[in-house]
Amino acid sequence: EREAAAVAPVTPGALADGTAVPLLANLGSSAGAQAAADAGAEGVGLFRTEFLFLDAGGSAPTVEQQREHYTRLLQAFPGKKVVVRVLDAGADKPLPFLNDAHEENPALGLRGLRALRASEDILREQLTALADADKATEADLWVMAPMVSTVEETRYFVEIAREYGIKTAGVMVEVPSLALLAPQVLAASDFASIGTNDLTQYTLAADRMLGSVAALQDPWHPAVLRLVGEVGAAGAATGKPVGICGEAAADPLLAVVLVGLGATTLSMSTPALVDVRASLLKYTIDEARQLAEIALAADGAAESRAAVAAAALTLK
Ligand code: PEP
Ligand code: MG
Repeated sequence: EREAAAVAPVTPGALADGTAVPLLANLGSSAGAQAAADAGAEGVGLFRTEFLFLDAGGSAPTVEQQREHYTRLLQAFPGKKVVVRVLDAGADKPLPFLNDAHEENPALGLRGLRALRASEDILREQLTALADADKATEADLWVMAPMVSTVEETRYFVEIAREYGIKTAGVMVEVPSLALLAPQVLAASDFASIGTNDLTQYTLAADRMLGSVAALQDPWHPAVLRLVGEVGAAGAATGKPVGICGEAAADPLLAVVLVGLGATTLSMSTPALVDVRASLLKYTIDEARQLAEIALAADGAAESRAAVAAAALTLK
C-alpha cells in the first residue's frame, strides 16, 4: 500500500476556482528530495544549505562536495523549480568558521547574507558549486539570500549571483525593513520569498528561540500579515513571484490567507502538503482575499485566527 501511495498522481496546488498555487517543499538535505517529489511537491521552495555546512565538521564543505550534493538535489526535480538558499549562518544556526560566538544579540548580528559578505570566498564557492550543478542537470534553479535587510544588500546579492550565471536570483523577506520596501526590492531582484519565522520574530521583537516569549511568535499576527500583504501587492504590481517558505505556509487556513495577501507559491515541510492542498481547494481567490481582510482587521494573533476560522465556516 505504501508503494501505491508513492506512485499515485497528486494534483497540483490550486484554489476552488482553479487559480494555481504551486506547493513546494522545504528541504534540509538532498536525502528528502525523492519523498517530497513522491508527495506531490511541485518543486523545492526552500533548500536550507546550513545542514550541509554543519555536517562538514568544523570547516566549510569543498566546492566538489557541494557540487555533488546540489546535483543530487536538482536531479530529483527535472524541469521543476528548486530554490536554494545560500548559507544562513548565525543566530539559531551558528557555524564556528563564520560567526563570532561573542555577539550579545546574535539574531541582530552578523548572520545570513551579512556573514557571507564578510567571508565572501564562502559565498563565491557556494555559487560556483550551484552554477556547476545547474549546468549538469535539468531543474530550474533559483538562488536566494537569507537575512537581507536593505535594497543595497539585495543588489549586492543579485549582482554576485549573476557573475556566476545564476539566471534567477532573489531574496528572502524576513526583516520588516525589506517588506516595507518591497517595490524597490522586487525591482532589484527576480523574486521574493517570505520567511515568516524570522519575519515574525523581528516584527514582534520576540526571540524565536526563547520559550518565555513563544506566545508572541505567531504568524497570524495582523502586523506580520500586513507586511506579507506589502510584499504580495508589490509582487502583483511587478509580476514577480512572491513565495512563502516559513512555517506559516504549513497551517492550512493561514495558507489560504497568505494566498489572499498575494503569495503566489507556498513551501512547507513534506508532511504538510496534503492538508494545505485540501484546504486551498475549498476557497476561491475572492474568498481568500476576504479572509485576508478579516485577518488584517483583527487586533492580535488570537483574534485574527478566531475571526478567520469563524468566517471560513460561513463560506463552507
Ligand atoms: C524563516 O525564517 O521563516 C525561514 C524560512 O528560514 P529559517 O526558519 O531557516 O530561518
Ligand atoms: Mg529565516
